[in-house]
Amino acid sequence: MIQELTKATEHMHDFHLVFQPQYKLDIHAIAGVEALIRWKHPGKGWISPEQFIPVAERSGLIGRIGLWVMQEASRQFAAWRRAGISLRVSVNVSPEQLKDDGFVSSVQTVLRESGMESDCLTLELTEGAPLYQSPDAVARLHRLRDLGCSIAIDDFGTGYSSLKYLLDIPVQYVKLDRFFIQHLGHHTRSEAIVRSVIGLAGQLEFQVIAEGVESYDTIVHLAELGCHEIQGYYISPPVEAQHIPEIMARYPVSKTT
Ligand code: C2E
Ligand code: CA
Ligand code: CA
Repeated sequence: MIQELTKATEHMHDFHLVFQPQYKLDIHAIAGVEALIRWKHPGKGWISPEQFIPVAERSGLIGRIGLWVMQEASRQFAAWRRAGISLRVSVNVSPEQLKDDGFVSSVQTVLRESGMESDCLTLELTEGAPLYQSPDAVARLHRLRDLGCSIAIDDFGTGYSSLKYLLDIPVQYVKLDRFFIQHLGHHTRSEAIVRSVIGLAGQLEFQVIAEGVESYDTIVHLAELGCHEIQGYYISPPVEAQHIPEIMARYPVSKTT
């Protein structure tokens, strides 16, 4: 796959972004979207990011792909804003990208060129031991936070099972992995974990976003547990950018509860 991916990243024409809404429970509205990459191979059709992102990480192509994702996401942000739509946009950042000394300045360039405010950009990072053991990567995260970007820990609770990094890096959001969410209501330990993560996040002043929410009952349950935001097929699967306004219109903002 490396050769095909290398070829595809020369022009990036076979890639595009889709966006999945993030629903904020207290205002009953879509407050943000997560950008997710799609690759349509000319011969083989759709290839999942779960297949090609690890290849991109191993081969060094992730830098180019990750930069393109940020450029596209910020370009889309600017287009929505011109249409009067305000949203926070999250992008996935590979730990490999944070190893690059030029990463912070490339984020600054993307923000400057698109006119996107830094506080509208969230960087989603997965839990990974080597990343948070590197003082350089931790310093880069602090520089990004100083710029005004937010940092979310993706797939929280499934990766590196140490909480020490929460002392070192400036986190605003934790994303509860769908594995825990999908067992909620059927599995008392899942409920205990979700409850504990929400409690921990409250103490640390993080917001909790639940991923993979597929039913109304789960939303009610998560709201009772004090979760802040919901992402999943129940609200909407990832969609093309042009569908975001109609999805937002289904959830008119109502007063804060
Ligand atoms: P992720 O960041 O955890 O993204 C959430 C994944 O869960 C997405 O899969 C999304 O389509 C899927 N999902 C959302 N709601 C539901 C639901 O209710 N039920 C179920 N079963 N699934 C749901 P997708 O788009 O295939 O992405 C898979 C992974 O690939 C992402 O997981 C992320 O780790 C990676 N990825 C995607 N785009 C990028 C990117 O631009 N850069 C990097 N570095 N990684 C990316
Ligand atoms: Ca993510
Ligand atoms: Ca995730």
